[in-house]
Amino acid sequence: MSDTATTETLGFQTEVAKLLHLMIHSLYSNKEIFLRELVSNAADASDKLRFESLAHPELLAEDPELGIWIDFDADAHTITLRDNGIGMSRDEVISNLGTIARSGTAEFVKNLSGDQQKDSHLIGQFGVGFYSAFVVAKQVDVRTRRAGLAASEGVFWSSQGEGEFSVGTIERAQRGTEIVLHLRDEATEYADAWRLRGIIHKYAEHIGIPVYMIKAQDDEAKAAQDVTWEAINQAAALWTRPRTEISDDEYKAFYKHISHDFSDPATWSHNKVEGKLEYTSLLYIPTRAPFDLFNREAPKGLKLYVQRVFIMDDAEQFLPLYLRFVKGVIDSNDLPLNVSREILQSNPSIETIRSTLTKRVLDMLSKMAESHPEGYQSFWDTFGAVLKEGVVEDHGNQEKLASLFRFASSRQSDDKQTLSLDTYISQMPADQKAIYYVTAESFQAGRLSPHMEIFRKKDIDVLVMTDRVDEWMMSWLREYQGKSFVHVGKGDLSLDDDSSEDKKKAQETQEAEHGDLLKRLKDALGEQITEAKVSSRLVDSPACLVVPEGDIGLATRQMLEAAGQKLPPSKPRLEVNLEHALIKRMEVEADDNRFKALATVLYGQAALAEGMQLKDPSEFVGQLNHLLGQLFG
Ligand code: ADP
Repeated sequence: MSDTATTETLGFQTEVAKLLHLMIHSLYSNKEIFLRELVSNAADASDKLRFESLAHPELLAEDPELGIWIDFDADAHTITLRDNGIGMSRDEVISNLGTIARSGTAEFVKNLSGDQQKDSHLIGQFGVGFYSAFVVAKQVDVRTRRAGLAASEGVFWSSQGEGEFSVGTIERAQRGTEIVLHLRDEATEYADAWRLRGIIHKYAEHIGIPVYMIKAQDDEAKAAQDVTWEAINQAAALWTRPRTEISDDEYKAFYKHISHDFSDPATWSHNKVEGKLEYTSLLYIPTRAPFDLFNREAPKGLKLYVQRVFIMDDAEQFLPLYLRFVKGVIDSNDLPLNVSREILQSNPSIETIRSTLTKRVLDMLSKMAESHPEGYQSFWDTFGAVLKEGVVEDHGNQEKLASLFRFASSRQSDDKQTLSLDTYISQMPADQKAIYYVTAESFQAGRLSPHMEIFRKKDIDVLVMTDRVDEWMMSWLREYQGKSFVHVGKGDLSLDDDSSEDKKKAQETQEAEHGDLLKRLKDALGEQITEAKVSSRLVDSPACLVVPEGDIGLATRQMLEAAGQKLPPSKPRLEVNLEHALIKRMEVEADDNRFKALATVLYGQAALAEGMQLKDPSEFVGQLNHLLGQLFG
């Protein structure tokens, strides 16, 4: 069949071999998706050919009717899919069907745990594609020829999916790709007309080119080999059809086609814009994050069509980076067919489309938050950290974005339930002016931090923020609905009911009365603190550390510095609780050495409560043991 002189046997890239193995084991309950994936690839191949033929019309001319033909042989247990799309050259076959080029694949595979149940979850984040053929086939043969190459440059590829594939050069009169699946014994049921039709209706109704199967016919016609192919789908690009005629299942199937995700989307929005600019957009919010959501190099963006001709994948210009999880299609009537990424960057109408699409996504999320709070919560858990980037990236939409944010509340015992800023405000007592929040390593660390004591006592709700981006985001988000944000662990705290002159005076008097203690503390702790002060935020704890308003929190600072970032220097002040027995005891401590030991322990525990690591743990432990020893002395 293939010319043996040109045939070589090659090994799959390690990652492919691992993914193949995992896929075969994790998709056994959902085998039929192989057809969706292969039809999807064939449709993409036709799209690519149509695009290349814009510049090279001769590519299409020899065989202008694009389509996908599916046949089977129930006796031989085979299914054959053929397309007359772009096809592949020998090099393309080797790299496309032997490796996974996407950056980050190696890390993804490394993260597979080996536990099949857990990993089969992960595989969904990856997209299965061509290799899903091996879920039903014990052997896959591919014959293909790239459009524009000579008939002598056809390629034959074959593999049993077990680490190796062979590839050779063949004569192939027709451009495009033919795939023969030799079904596994437990998958022979798919070599059946009704079965195949059913699956195609389910998954490929939306495909923009016809999918043909042989018309059911009588024995006579079959004997005469007089077969008729009939299109079994509508063959109209889904987004071009009126919304009212598209079922939810079709929308979902189309999502899977463009996203290579095999979970259903959370929601979508399909719109046709007419007027000065004419375009159709179909945008989806996924339920699951791709494995490379936080890799800024990962492919992102919409599939761009111009007048229904596919132009490019991953057109990034139509949405801001913080909406990179959105999948979808945009089909423009105004852009030139030869549009390139460079043109997109400088075309003024793109900016308009981008801001409309951004609003559309934010509206879609608001709607979802209202009508499906549970679904929205799960969206938030998956993509919230990315959406928060918008506060910095997209000033104009800050208020709208903030309305979509959800935070844990200090009045709850866990962070499973979150609340919106609107809910927070609606629950604020009449005299509360600010929105209080704290940033922390974890929900419990934040909720139980000494800074929270006075809030707990007064039953004031504090939002507990534990995402890595929160501290950075909050330095940009100053207010919401006219209420300013106040970090409870930073700067001077003036709770609304104690901002009166009397209270301030009382505080000053206290500072003066206890000036001695404060000075001794500063002397004992030296450069570790800027000053020691009397606290108004503590109830149960003896002391806490406070950074100036607008500064990075202590724990975050430590983490960033450990990661090698240079930050402007900043020191906390120590605040003490005059009501606390330990502070009262320190006030009368005459022995300077013992005072120093107490001060070290006081500072150390305040730092630990902040989630910091001690600079000199042995000094702390030494002093602590020294003091404990005296208890028994
Ligand atoms: P994906 O479609 O996500 O890129 P696949 O594993 O499904 O991944 O396919 C890998 C590549 O193989 C495709 O990107 C495409 O370049 C090529 N390919 C697959 N099927 C076909 C086909 N029928 N015609 C032409 N190229 C194809």
